[in-house]
Amino acid sequence: MPRDIEVDVAPWKNDAQFVYSVTYDEGTLDALVNSYPIHEEHGIPGHICQVTGFLGKQRLDRGTNLFDVFYLNEDQIRFLVDRGWTFSSHSHTHVPTGQEGIDLDLEVRLSKYELERATGLSVDIITYWGNTALKDQIIPIAREAGYLGVLSIDYPLNSSDFDVWDIGRGTIGRDLDGWVDNPSTAIYRHTKDAFPGHLTQENTRGKWLVDLTHVIAERLPPRVPESAWNRCCTPDILNARLAEVRAVWGDELWAAVPEDVVHYTLLRRSAEVGVESRGPDRAVCTVSLGELPNAVSRRDLTFRAATNWDGIKIDGGAVETRSSNGSFVWTAPVADGTEFVLEAI
Ligand SMILES: [Zn+2]
Repeated sequence: MPRDIEVDVAPWKNDAQFVYSVTYDEGTLDALVNSYPIHEEHGIPGHICQVTGFLGKQRLDRGTNLFDVFYLNEDQIRFLVDRGWTFSSHSHTHVPTGQEGIDLDLEVRLSKYELERATGLSVDIITYWGNTALKDQIIPIAREAGYLGVLSIDYPLNSSDFDVWDIGRGTIGRDLDGWVDNPSTAIYRHTKDAFPGHLTQENTRGKWLVDLTHVIAERLPPRVPESAWNRCCTPDILNARLAEVRAVWGDELWAAVPEDVVHYTLLRRSAEVGVESRGPDRAVCTVSLGELPNAVSRRDLTFRAATNWDGIKIDGGAVETRSSNGSFVWTAPVADGTEFVLEAI
């Protein structure tokens, strides 16, 4: 039978052309006081990689040069959670990764438990602290503890076939191209510019950028060395970064917390879509889902129907949205066996 309609699942939710997440390492008070109002203005949610051992306390000296900063407490964390922010574990103590005798059960498992208690949410992601030296030891523990993925430190533009256990994350700035040729932590360059001309539709199309920063403030505490600005920025620069992201893609941007993207991706990869024609102007699309962890709680998928029909109704409702290649696009919650009735109009 000639098929006059085909359906696939969009790589990103709402068939977005670009996905952007911004992450704040450590979980310091400035995220609430300085960053949160800027995020509200741009309609972009934030994500904090939280060190769980110091909630409501001042930072200890070990393993950092961000001396004297204060961590969010549980009330402040809940305030942000209630406004759509999410939290990953950034270890319990931020122990230097080269130290002998590191207790990874404490850093990986206990921190998940503590953060779930503090946020009231499932904590699905762990974020490497310091560097990636312990990755081979952390990943098996993280899988067993029920995490769904890892935020790493790497080239920050991920394709839709990214590895959930190796999500690229970095701060981009003046010389992203130079960094690609010679990767190093010198990618931290956003102290003076936002994304100085780096983000274009051409180089971001189809990608997920996971941006990385730390403290957002006008001044850092006096004991913090000047070099720490390499991974922190001022509120004005954060504002410019978020404005630039919005400007490049407008409504075709998916401003997402990392969990949104990981859940969508795991759901998409487990989904199979079948279409059966029921005559020239009617078809049924069936979704089968493979095994998925319970922690994958966001269960919306975006579908694209390619057809020569002039218009389409899904389950009786007309679909207005079209993708760039003319497919009809709709987003809906799915379970194993979900069916959509597609009709020509
Ligand atoms: Zn850190």
